[in-house]
Amino acid sequence: MQAGTTIFEHMSGLARQHDAINLGQGFPDFGWPDAVLAAGAEAITHGYNQYPPMRGLPELRAAVAGFYARNGLDVTQDQVIVTSGATEALAASIMAVAGSGDEVILFAPAYDAYAPLVRRAGATPVWVELQPPDWQARAEAIAAAITPATRAILLNTPHNPTGGMAGPAMLAAIAELARAHDLIIISDEVWEAVLTGPERHVSPFSLAPERTIKIGSAGKLLALTGWKVGWVVATPALAERVAQVHQFLTFTTAPPLQVAVATGLALPAGWYEAARARFTIARNRLAAALTAGGWQLLPTHGSYFLMADLAASGISLGDRTFCEAAVARAADGVAAIPLSAFQPDGAETPFIRLCFAKSDAVLDEGARRLNLARARLASG
Ligand code: PMP
Ligand code: GLN
Repeated sequence: MQAGTTIFEHMSGLARQHDAINLGQGFPDFGWPDAVLAAGAEAITHGYNQYPPMRGLPELRAAVAGFYARNGLDVTQDQVIVTSGATEALAASIMAVAGSGDEVILFAPAYDAYAPLVRRAGATPVWVELQPPDWQARAEAIAAAITPATRAILLNTPHNPTGGMAGPAMLAAIAELARAHDLIIISDEVWEAVLTGPERHVSPFSLAPERTIKIGSAGKLLALTGWKVGWVVATPALAERVAQVHQFLTFTTAPPLQVAVATGLALPAGWYEAARARFTIARNRLAAALTAGGWQLLPTHGSYFLMADLAASGISLGDRTFCEAAVARAADGVAAIPLSAFQPDGAETPFIRLCFAKSDAVLDEGARRLNLARARLASG
């Protein structure tokens, strides 16, 4: 990876340079509600253009609380702080609960921003491995990582990059250990509605509401990743701690987008069910085409991502080597993301991440190119 850029920037840049199909960076090319775009345009032309309140527009805070209340969580508007994307919510939450000399437990593989944000806060990441193929961490492994310096456990469910979900045993262990050791659970749930299996999303907020900072993002809920509207949900006291950081980090988030997101969160449950079904169809389409081409895929439950196993698919290259080779093919380049970018030591792995949130034509051409790459690079 080039110094100074994320793996997502790097691979999207290469995809543009080589005119490759981009199944790397996680953004959809369909799936957003037109009514939300119209609400945003209307808000810009009708006066939502000056600083909104630091904690977010009341209409969006109410909409976030209402959305979660309809989904079974006991949330009120005074528990919601609007942030500039989940990324800011993560930064503000980490800085609110951990500082110099503290430790934060992270699960590996982890979303690329977590460890740098923990270090920026002056704290130290302490790693617990998620075990493939179902990407769970055992209670004993989490317990063993806790020291007197531990302040928080940062969980991501559904999980980027693996598409896994924290199961009941892992969630119960986290809630129990957090209570026993007085830890905060920072719970990154940006993928909570992008579910491609029958499972229901379970938030640690439903298990330990008194110590969970739940993070969400309109980018994923409404398929508008560039909007960067996110939020935290926590007890009023914890939310206040996050707000103290947020007020000097970004202070506010673009108000027309906040208005528009509020209308999106009020869409009927049927819209969300249809979106979930549509992403599931896309996942299945890419999975079927790749399986037919000899790829071995891992089971996934949520997010825009599928994981492919290079070694089991007959490719002995490391993930980064494969991705750099696959994207640079003159007429049939395809971008993917190496799992190593999410690993603490960055060492190459035999897994790549593929984004399936694409129209049929892109998925079909992407699969054709990946199947070509596999046929070319498979060692026997
Ligand atoms: N957390 C996870 C797990 C993500 O996958 C992403 C984006 N894909 C983010 C946070 C960042 O979300 P946002 O764009 O709202 O900052
Ligand atoms: N979260 C997106 C992904 O996982 C990318 C975000 C980014 O480009 N930093 O692909």
